[in-house]
Amino acid sequence: MNYRNRAVSWLAVMGVVAWQWWASPWPWFWWVGLGLQFLLYPQLAYLFARLSDDPLAFELRTMTFDSLAIGFWVAWLGAPLWLAYALCVCGAMNLAAFKGPRGLLISVLLQCCGAALAVLVHGFQFQPDLAPGPTALCMLALSAYMLAFAHGANERTRKLHAIRMRLTDSERALQRQLAENQVLQVRLSEQANRDSLTGLFNRRFLDATLGRELIRCQREGQPLALIVIDIDHFKKVNDNAGHPVGDEVLRRVAFLLSHDSRASDVVCRHGGEEFLLMLPNMPMAAALERAEHYRESLAGSTLLIEGQRLRITLSAGVASYPEHGQLPGELLAAADKALYLAKSRGRNRVEVAQADRFEQPTVPMEPA
Ligand code: GH3
Ligand code: MG
Ligand code: MG
Repeated sequence: MNYRNRAVSWLAVMGVVAWQWWASPWPWFWWVGLGLQFLLYPQLAYLFARLSDDPLAFELRTMTFDSLAIGFWVAWLGAPLWLAYALCVCGAMNLAAFKGPRGLLISVLLQCCGAALAVLVHGFQFQPDLAPGPTALCMLALSAYMLAFAHGANERTRKLHAIRMRLTDSERALQRQLAENQVLQVRLSEQANRDSLTGLFNRRFLDATLGRELIRCQREGQPLALIVIDIDHFKKVNDNAGHPVGDEVLRRVAFLLSHDSRASDVVCRHGGEEFLLMLPNMPMAAALERAEHYRESLAGSTLLIEGQRLRITLSAGVASYPEHGQLPGELLAAADKALYLAKSRGRNRVEVAQADRFEQPTVPMEPA
């Protein structure tokens, strides 16, 4: 992350040092030490960071070490004012950028430690030298370093902004997808519970709700009525008027049955030309009235479908909880028997289930 800045700026520092002290009678190993620090160390730091499992943590440790080294070299060399200033500012800036005010404090402390170490070993040096060449190079290098630093920060900000925009776009797309999925899920579950021809609930839905509603009515001491309806001689309608007309008859009957129903009623197409109404909280007498109303409405009207006038009648069987059964199967069987009775007694009739054939169960039903 910081390789280019560190390598170039420390090369510049090496240049300033060489320029400043080229004529000094330093022992050769000082130059070797300086070369190791300012030329080789940035390369090694980069190499090890690349090989590290966590390059960012390695880089932060390297920056921390930089501050210690800066303090050491500034004090060891008794660096001229501009060089000392440039090094200390750059070291502090790096840590402050990545660790905030805490980083600044750490850098200052480490620089002091490095300087203290150098003073301990080598004694105190101070040369507020303002030789024009090295000073100008220092100012140039510091300016270049700051510009490079700003450029890096700007690039990171722009990348971050682009990533944020992409993330926002993805999040929006995800939200859209989620909403579409929810709509689809609702539609699918609706479709799974509906009969495609009439739009009424299907047998699957009734099977799922009848038991639940019975338990609720039992708990609340409410009645529940079932009306099973079957169109009379429907096969003849198909045979005489055609299957599409038969379909339309089914749709008209479905409309009649669902037209006046309450929100709690479940009107379903139980199969073929058979319909079933589940009427929670409805006593037997009211259910019988409803069934009669449907029968009369259909028998009293002529259906005009595709230019054909049709007289359609229906037969119905009515059963009610608790008189005719306590379990879904018992109630359905009782209503079916009543329907069979209506058919056998001449059709276009409503019959009530036989109460005497039902025996009260000894164990009351409990919610599942
Ligand atoms: P009944 O009075 O005894 O009920 O006589 P029915 O002719 O109505 O009874 P049956 O069970 O013999 O015939 C039912 C017919 O309903 C046979 C079948 O072709 C027809 N049917 C079942 N489902 C559909 C459907 O979705 N569309 C159409 N058009 N006809 C259907
Ligand atoms: Mg029929
Ligand atoms: Mg039938």
